[in-house]
Amino acid sequence: MLDFTIQNVLIATDDDYATVDVQIVDGAIAAIASNLQAIGTVIDGKNKLLLPGFFNAHTHSSEMWQRGIMSVFPLELWLAELYDFAPLDPEQVYLSALGTAVETLLSGGTSVVDHLVLIPGLELETIAIATRAYREVGIRAFIAPLIQDESLTAGIPSGESAQTHEPYFRSTAATLEIIEEAVRQFHRPDEGINILVAPTGIQLCTDALFQGCSELSSRYNLCRHSHLLETRAQEKLAQEKYGCTAVEHLKRIGYLSDRTTLAHCVWLNDADIAILAETQSTVVHNPLSNLRLGSGIAPILKYRQAGVNVTFGCDGASSNDSQDLLEAIKIGSILHNVTGSDYQHWITPRQAVEMASLGGAKGLNIADKLGSLTVGKQADLVLYDLTNLSLLPRTDPIGLLVLGRPTNVVNSVWVNGKQIVANLSL
Ligand SMILES: [Zn+2]
Repeated sequence: MLDFTIQNVLIATDDDYATVDVQIVDGAIAAIASNLQAIGTVIDGKNKLLLPGFFNAHTHSSEMWQRGIMSVFPLELWLAELYDFAPLDPEQVYLSALGTAVETLLSGGTSVVDHLVLIPGLELETIAIATRAYREVGIRAFIAPLIQDESLTAGIPSGESAQTHEPYFRSTAATLEIIEEAVRQFHRPDEGINILVAPTGIQLCTDALFQGCSELSSRYNLCRHSHLLETRAQEKLAQEKYGCTAVEHLKRIGYLSDRTTLAHCVWLNDADIAILAETQSTVVHNPLSNLRLGSGIAPILKYRQAGVNVTFGCDGASSNDSQDLLEAIKIGSILHNVTGSDYQHWITPRQAVEMASLGGAKGLNIADKLGSLTVGKQADLVLYDLTNLSLLPRTDPIGLLVLGRPTNVVNSVWVNGKQIVANLSL
């Protein structure tokens, strides 16, 4: 592995900036100070800002093939339309994983959580080919194979009518066996490839599937991922299905934990929020998808005030046709200036940056290794070009990075100390 030193680079301090040198040795941050001895390759950091890499903490890479064409529909109708597309072939999965990785990297991300849609009958092949794409690009990947064990119609509340649903085409046990095999074949955290357990959500999964996933998570030390209460219909469905809220139920069956990340979390009540805080679960905020599908606005300020960890995701490209993480961070923070009138709780650009970096690392249970510019942590770093017109004039670089519309500002990216973007290109 190549050691290197970034000289004279701007970094954020507690509430100011400093110009420093940063030494990277064996893939980790070895020193941060001014006038350090140059070790290895020297990189000129003048007029550049160095930040820890962000996490695109929820997306579905293969939806890239549907971007731009989905109807302007709410989630339940949108899902029916999405299911109408013919399944992709592995080559398409490969290309859309590459595309998702590249867009994430070029908007400040160094990690991606891919809630990966599996091709029926080619489940392990789907995971293998996405893994190959992420290895080739070099992004840190958290592959969360999307599983369910109930058919699509079970995801809609039935009201007073008694409904029966077709059984799902594969048994719960067979689905769990696929995930266990994926863990054996592909879960290599030291090489930047992680497998997560990821039942899609309470709307299409039985307790047996959630509990089987929890068992795999304990046995193999895997993070847990799921959608949670994206729409009002799902809130109603949870009451029909469990007689309590989805959050109360997930707590009861043991799915919530300090390594559980939950995408959306739009329709939670105050008691649910307290449960997320108590279980140290993480909320992944996907503001653009929630706006595109009219799902609602997640109560992010309430989460933060309750001490719930929050980070950002783009969500799949068929519900957020862009995969620009900086855009998700901008909208995901300023959106809440209209949800809470006490401006002292509004999200500042620096807080947004911390949510996107350390918040993601906490959710994936690796805050000891990633998420901040700290000596000893792994070098997942992004260098921004402050001479780009979209970041000028040089007022407050982080303020402008978050609140402006930065365009082609990512100069260099390293993951685990390996440079994967250099001078704006891969
Ligand atoms: Zn999603």
